[in-house]
Amino acid sequence: MAKATTTIRQVLNYQADYAAWFAANQDLYNQTCSFYFGVIQAHEKVLDLSNKEALTVLEKLTHTTQSNPHPIMPLSEIAEDIPAMFRRAAINAALGSARSFYSTLGKWRKRKEKAQTKGKKFTERPPVPPRSWNKSATLYAGQWKERAGSSIMIKVWTGSVWSWVKVRITGREIPAGVEMGSPQLIRKGNHWWLHTPVEKQFKSPAKIEKQVTTNAQTKICSVDLNLDQHLAVCTVRTVEGSILATTFISGGRWVNGLRKKQLGRIARNRRKTSIIVEGEQDNADLWRKIRNTDDHIAHLVSARIVQFAKQHEASILVFEHLGNLKPAKGTYSKRGNSKRAFWMKGRIFKYAKYKAYNEGIITSWVNPRNTSRECARCHSLVARYEEGKPAEGYTYGAPLVWCHQCGMKGNSDRNASLVIGQRLVARYQKPLKEKPPTPLVAERAEQSAGVVISQVAKSVGTRPSNGSARHGDHNEHGTAQETGTGMVAPVSDIACQLRLPF
Ligand SMILES: [Zn+2]
Repeated sequence: MAKATTTIRQVLNYQADYAAWFAANQDLYNQTCSFYFGVIQAHEKVLDLSNKEALTVLEKLTHTTQSNPHPIMPLSEIAEDIPAMFRRAAINAALGSARSFYSTLGKWRKRKEKAQTKGKKFTERPPVPPRSWNKSATLYAGQWKERAGSSIMIKVWTGSVWSWVKVRITGREIPAGVEMGSPQLIRKGNHWWLHTPVEKQFKSPAKIEKQVTTNAQTKICSVDLNLDQHLAVCTVRTVEGSILATTFISGGRWVNGLRKKQLGRIARNRRKTSIIVEGEQDNADLWRKIRNTDDHIAHLVSARIVQFAKQHEASILVFEHLGNLKPAKGTYSKRGNSKRAFWMKGRIFKYAKYKAYNEGIITSWVNPRNTSRECARCHSLVARYEEGKPAEGYTYGAPLVWCHQCGMKGNSDRNASLVIGQRLVARYQKPLKEKPPTPLVAERAEQSAGVVISQVAKSVGTRPSNGSARHGDHNEHGTAQETGTGMVAPVSDIACQLRLPF
């Protein structure tokens, strides 16, 4: 069996004065988290323990009982009578933050040490522990009761006393057959919500190898992620090779523009203030905005990818491996922009993977080598070019490809997504994968063909470009195929092929 977790978000309806209580409750929760983070800092060794053992130790250090009348760092300095379950939720939250902080710090120390042993200058600032806490209170069992479809009782700190309050719940109901986790009381703007994690159990999907080798009708959704306009191009195919659907998920230009604007602003601010305060993040608001935008887009794109895969009954999702970041040259904002775009790709992959898994779809990746340069039909190297330019050479990021070997012409991102799908299938059908030899003659053919194409490209330039016509947001093409997939056209036929309405 496999497990899938998601969060059910519900709006709360309550008397007007409860909002202030929820806020007071959250303040106390954060004070408690901050307090325990301090206790952990003073006793770093607790981080070597499991959460359960650490909890016991931390309670012993802080919680006054008859058998423990004088704890070293009493929690009662923060507040009296904090309920046990409120305290434990805060301890676990603090442990989570501390583990993450110390792991980042450890990595920083290693990098520093490495630089110093190499005699290099090390200027990277160390991570700082959280200065302010803004966590949402988690309600462990004992802090809530009598949960029904439309109401729940919760125990909150009102600012002066602990009180049980009844609130109404609206919005999506908890689905049947799931296991509920501890809900959280979440502030969104001026209103309070209840977020409940739920866990669903389902039959584990079969391994990819089994799916691919035992059923030729298994559907695979292959995804090409990009840094330019089409953030993702997805194609669904069967193992035996029928291409069922393609979709283009757009919006890259908008995201890049937005990010560039914000990075430019940060660069200008940095120039204005020559002193960067040690240990303080400059332009924190702008950085947060950029992060939030990227994260939001990654969620939208990944959700769309999984929705598309599900809609076409794909049971496997495949990406190319993201590899390492190749930093771009150029201005500060340009470099930063390409770096963040790379991170965003990683996040889209990560989010798509878990969202797909929740739908019983397994995710895999393939070798990224030349996915954009290879012809999806015959595996020769393709020419990649701009609309209206000669179909020759390789222009990075250009929208069109043309294969001089087999005459395949089409959208470059779609071609890449097809290649990605093929690589996954090829992994399990190694003997079938063969690369046609590329004779020297081909080079001459390519050159002469380049001329033919450039003339044709001019003559068709007045038509709406197949680029813009087909690349609408979330535009789908049922069984759209490139020009005559399956046909191997001699070079002289290319001109005719180009007039086909693809
Ligand atoms: Zn080809």
